[in-house]
Amino acid sequence: MTVELAAAEVGRDFIRDIVQADLNSHKHSQVVTRFPPEPNGYLHIGHAKSIALNFGIAQEFSGRCHLRFDDTNPTREEQEYIDSIQADVRWLGYDWGTDLFYASDYFERLYGWAEDLIRAGHAYVDDQSQDQIRASRGTLTEPGKNSPFRERSVDENLDLFRRMKAGEFPNGARVLRAKIDMSSGNINLRDPVLYRILHATHPRTGDTWSIYPSYDYAHGQSDAIEGITHSICTLEFEDHRPLYEWLLDKLPVPSKPRQYEFARLNLTYTLLSKRVLTELVRGGHVAGWDDPRMPTIAGLKRRGVPPAAIREFVKRIGVAKANSVVDVGMLEFSIREVLNKSALRRMAVLRPLKVLIENYPEGQVEEIEAVNHPDDPSAGTRKIKFGRELYIERDDFMENPPKKFFRLSPGNEVRLRYAYFITCREVVKNAAGEVIELRCTYDPATKGGNAPDGRKVKATMHWLSASHSVPAEIRLYNQLFVKPAPDAANFAADLNPQSLEILTDARIEPAIAEVNSSDVMQFERQGYFVRDPDSTPERPVFNRTIGLRDTFAKEVGGKS
Ligand code: ATP
Ligand code: MG
Repeated sequence: MTVELAAAEVGRDFIRDIVQADLNSHKHSQVVTRFPPEPNGYLHIGHAKSIALNFGIAQEFSGRCHLRFDDTNPTREEQEYIDSIQADVRWLGYDWGTDLFYASDYFERLYGWAEDLIRAGHAYVDDQSQDQIRASRGTLTEPGKNSPFRERSVDENLDLFRRMKAGEFPNGARVLRAKIDMSSGNINLRDPVLYRILHATHPRTGDTWSIYPSYDYAHGQSDAIEGITHSICTLEFEDHRPLYEWLLDKLPVPSKPRQYEFARLNLTYTLLSKRVLTELVRGGHVAGWDDPRMPTIAGLKRRGVPPAAIREFVKRIGVAKANSVVDVGMLEFSIREVLNKSALRRMAVLRPLKVLIENYPEGQVEEIEAVNHPDDPSAGTRKIKFGRELYIERDDFMENPPKKFFRLSPGNEVRLRYAYFITCREVVKNAAGEVIELRCTYDPATKGGNAPDGRKVKATMHWLSASHSVPAEIRLYNQLFVKPAPDAANFAADLNPQSLEILTDARIEPAIAEVNSSDVMQFERQGYFVRDPDSTPERPVFNRTIGLRDTFAKEVGGKS
């Protein structure tokens, strides 16, 4: 995989320009697109690009976008995938209305057209094995060889094809091939396979069929049946376009769609091949299709990524005609941008260290007012309890700090957000020499977080009351792969062993625990978090959607 720059966008993008021109010239009165997933896995962020393009064009030009399941391979397809794909497209914010179709809806019609091809001398039944067919295909530099069965009579072909359909022959015994040109410079035109024998139960047609159409045969004809005007697909299909057009030309189809190709989405540190994603799930490398480390729509959703961030990302990367690899940082940027606006601020201590405020009266509890969103006063405030025993973040203390460390250390004074200035007086350790508690004092005159004498502190830290906070489990995620361009052929070697970190004794504000929804919150100084469905009433679990952009933005209250 090479990293190149995306081709410059011309106008909005070249596909929208084509659609606009076709509407202007009255070639079409309405644009009709389709999103054609094969239900053999969950959708991923690459599909989101295709979805946003197809549904987006239909929306912008007042057309229609069909959701069509390309269900031509019953050995790999499952109802679970059909259901998840529909849920994910809807979650992304798109709607196919009543235009839900399946290639299997057209099996009868496709079969009839295949007989038409045979009758016209454009297709024949080949008895060669798959290996023989492959071996006689030729190469980019050498022409292929005609099959010994290529000159069968129409009657013999029809008879054999009908018997294939009737289930008389075992899998792989015969195929139906288009009769085009074994010496074509385009290998896709060297008598491509149109039908294969497959004794398999189909999720929708059951055991009705013993033969199934190939992608190439089913796809264009399905487009034509549905009146698709612009059949948009990824660049790997560019070389299939002559076959797409050959079939439309030879068959009595009701419309003539045109195929256009765009560059698929590739992302650094990510693999977007369904084969790899399936193996990640089946091999137990992740917890499932919706594991928050997966680039699937379901994984992104569980991780807390808002659909608006995915739409924004897709808009930002644009649509080009040259393959490229997009920096995963672009996706993260879009996620932060959306969440920064919407997420309410809360305090959570991920790795707690106990702090005892020696001069704070025992048994006293104060309510401290905290703002819910610094840029949105309408989000209001909430009350947080402050007491003698607190938790701070373990990372916010160093016993022997280097020069630039401004947070808590022996003798140093810091601000506890919204509350008071505190100074560290004493470090308590266990037998193993680990710091287990800090003894601090507070300055009662600094209530609200400002000193009347104008003295400054260099750090503001988040905190929680020990007895008023709630325990929680927090899951932190890193890239699933360690390399910017993981090797799809040997992906297991490139997996990041540190892609998941589970913190089991985090503390959260009660206001976080009360949120029983999919709302993403910002835990101050730690990033954006969302409740995971693994939560129980006793033990809430949170996923970190993403960290804050700037790890040096430690001092909250300043500019973020
Ligand atoms: P496979 O890896 O099995 O070929 P696929 O990812 O192509 O699967 P499909 O279900 O055939 O899966 O994809 C549906 C549509 O999504 C197709 O039109 C395809 O071109 C598009 N698509 C798939 N992957 C990407 C991607 N990475 N970027 C943009 N579009 C994609
Ligand atoms: Mg595909």
